[in-house]
Amino acid sequence: MPHPLPLPPAGQSHDDVLARMRAMRVADANWREGRTFSLVYFGGEELKRFLEAAYNEFMSENGLSPLAFQSLRRFEAEVVSMACTLFHGTAEAAGTMTSGGTESLLMAMKTAREWARAERGITAPEVVLPITCHPALDKAAHYFGVKAVHAPVGPDFRVDVAEVERRITPNTALLVGSAVAYPHGVVDPIRELAALAKARGLLLHVDACLGGFHLPFARKLGVEVPPFDFELDGVTSLSADIHKYGFAAKGASLVLYKDKALRRHQFYSRTDWPGGIYASPSALGTRPGGAIAAAWGVMNYLGEAGYLRLHKTILDTADKLKAGIRAIPGLRLLGEAKYAIFAFTSDELNVYELGDAMEARGWKLDRQMGPPALHCMVTPAHEKVADLFLRDLSECAASLQRGEPAPEGSAAMYGMIGQVADPQMVQGFIGEFMDGLYEVEG
Ligand SMILES: *Cc1c(COP(=O)(O)O)cnc(C)c1O
Repeated sequence: MPHPLPLPPAGQSHDDVLARMRAMRVADANWREGRTFSLVYFGGEELKRFLEAAYNEFMSENGLSPLAFQSLRRFEAEVVSMACTLFHGTAEAAGTMTSGGTESLLMAMKTAREWARAERGITAPEVVLPITCHPALDKAAHYFGVKAVHAPVGPDFRVDVAEVERRITPNTALLVGSAVAYPHGVVDPIRELAALAKARGLLLHVDACLGGFHLPFARKLGVEVPPFDFELDGVTSLSADIHKYGFAAKGASLVLYKDKALRRHQFYSRTDWPGGIYASPSALGTRPGGAIAAAWGVMNYLGEAGYLRLHKTILDTADKLKAGIRAIPGLRLLGEAKYAIFAFTSDELNVYELGDAMEARGWKLDRQMGPPALHCMVTPAHEKVADLFLRDLSECAASLQRGEPAPEGSAAMYGMIGQVADPQMVQGFIGEFMDGLYEVEG
């Protein structure tokens, strides 16, 4: 195909276009049958049908104008309010919806920067981040000119609070902890971080993008969950993705603050625009009505009982998978692995080769690098395939233990990245890869 690609001269029929689009997804990740362990949080066909209806109903509406769309304004206010309750906010707690975890973290970082400037006179702000924190936080620091300083984690993969404290300078505005951290599914010592932040007059953001809509339900189901939210004095903001374990349609997350005064630093407005007064709560301008509506919809459709039912399935399935993995010779889980997200590794075989062997059998597991591991994020879709997964995993591990070659896959690339010492060179490879994503093929 030529590049640049021209617009088709004539339009095509509804059916033809949709048929072509469906054909293009043949090689897509098979989330519906629980073959993937990231990216899609599938709560079943019935829930999906509800989400589609709620989303489509408000697909054309624009959350940019709460005056034009009172429905969306109300949905968002109620979603924020319900989340404030879920995360033990007081009557002062406040927040906004955003399009995703990344936007929530961008907003928390921007708020911290503005707060530091206004309240502390800090003009070169710094943030102390656990090395396990989500890269979106580094991206946010990068975008907003905040210096990111990384603190190491202990042997349990939770951030070492003494190391965080050592990195605090007069320019530090913000500390961050994750609940849970994506790589190993553990909750950082939020209680200690909160005490530290409070003692030093700093903000503390809890990134609960992943765990926010899992931990409260896990706790209600009897799993031990340490305090991680506004229950702790010292936690000043928190992010939680409704489009992950809250089972909303994509494009729905929350950033919450201890009080409205802090949220004020997030808002943007311009009053002298020839087009009139422009005010926007978050990073986006136009905000998809469907995502806001579907988030409100799913919280009301499921209610607490529905969430508990889904999270019970998730936790039971995760327990089964973890027990099965522990029982496979040569494999071991990393960290406490108490919740729905965990990683496993091996001291005897190459886990990247194990990932390739599983991929050849139709299972997609994310590869991790510190240390080398395979990653599982359990959803209700895995309930039906847990036995099959464990059988395949056990067979693949046994085959590698016998010294049989792994099918060709990404193991070689991961091995190589591990060996290339020069991060600049790796960034170069990644840049080329990303350029390649925009090639149009015939
Ligand atoms: C997914 C995730 C994010 C980023 O969220 P997006 O919705 O992908 O932008 C941030 N933090 C954690 C811990 C996450 O798991």
